Amino acid sequence: MLKDMELLQFPDERLRRVSQPVEKFDEDLKLLSKEMLKIMYQSMGIGLAAPQVNKPIRLIVLDVSETRNKPMTFVNPNLEKVEGIVDSSEGCLSVPEIRTTVQRHKKILLSAQNIDGSEIKIEADDLLSICVQHEIDHLDGKLFIDYVSSVKLQRLRKKIAKQKKLTTEKPKGTTVKIV
Ligand code: ZN
Repeated sequence: MLKDMELLQFPDERLRRVSQPVEKFDEDLKLLSKEMLKIMYQSMGIGLAAPQVNKPIRLIVLDVSETRNKPMTFVNPNLEKVEGIVDSSEGCLSVPEIRTTVQRHKKILLSAQNIDGSEIKIEADDLLSICVQHEIDHLDGKLFIDYVSSVKLQRLRKKIAKQKKLTTEKPKGTTVKIV
């Protein structure tokens, strides 16, 4: 792991910082995105934002493919257009064990730069759209639980505490986490 790299977890205030735009597209940036992808794959996540590893810059990595071999890196991502509403069941590596439904835009038009700094524009829907929105939120210091009422959040936490007491076994199957 790179120096200073740690996976920050709620309620760490550093997750609430607004990340700075990337201006230098150098080797360090490439190295950071590689390390982030490694952490994301190891954690079975489908996305990770730089501020989650204590690097408050506007860089996100994701892979929403079933084969887990289509990594994507977006630098300075920006939603140009959004359309529709969809329910999305989400979790986050920075908010362990909480999983809940939030509303996202169904479709997005994303503009960003790739790791070399060239401009890209992508239309996305489904999982890619949702994942990009979740990760861009991280860049703005927002977490998915911010969309949930505090009452519901408390209920979720209680439920999790209860489940932990009832069983120490891990659930069967693989859960794909949006991190
Ligand atoms: Zn997250």
